[in-house]
Amino acid sequence: MTDANILLVDDDAQFIDVMRKRLTMRSMEVFHAGSGEEAMQKLASHGEIEVVILDVKLPGCSGIEVLRLIKQQYPLVEVIMLTGNATVESAIDGLRLGAWDYLMKPCNIEVLVEKVKEAVEKKRRHEEKIVDARVREIASRRG
Ligand SMILES: [Mg+2]
Repeated sequence: MTDANILLVDDDAQFIDVMRKRLTMRSMEVFHAGSGEEAMQKLASHGEIEVVILDVKLPGCSGIEVLRLIKQQYPLVEVIMLTGNATVESAIDGLRLGAWDYLMKPCNIEVLVEKVKEAVEKKRRHEEKIVDARVREIASRRG
């Protein structure tokens, strides 16, 4: 059983390759995208994605723009931003826009895995609450 379904978004193909292997070894299902546009396509076609690991610095549509789109279209999907020194400000903006957390590149894999697990737990709790609320609503209409 997979612990988490992740979408890794980075324009650095080598980084994607290394991270994908490391995360897969830790029982995670890893999808990947090299741009914001591709990330939105992957989210649309893989409804099982729970957490997005998002590079702040992407060509074309910036990481912050991608974060905004994700939060608009998939509010329950959690996002972890990855940033270099030069773009810490953007990562902080990301927190204001609803990112779960951010990490500095190069990031420690164990720390990243911990953050992913926290984000998945948060998402699942959130979904359970929504299901409970719906059940209660239906029950109250019947009562
Ligand atoms: Mg980049």
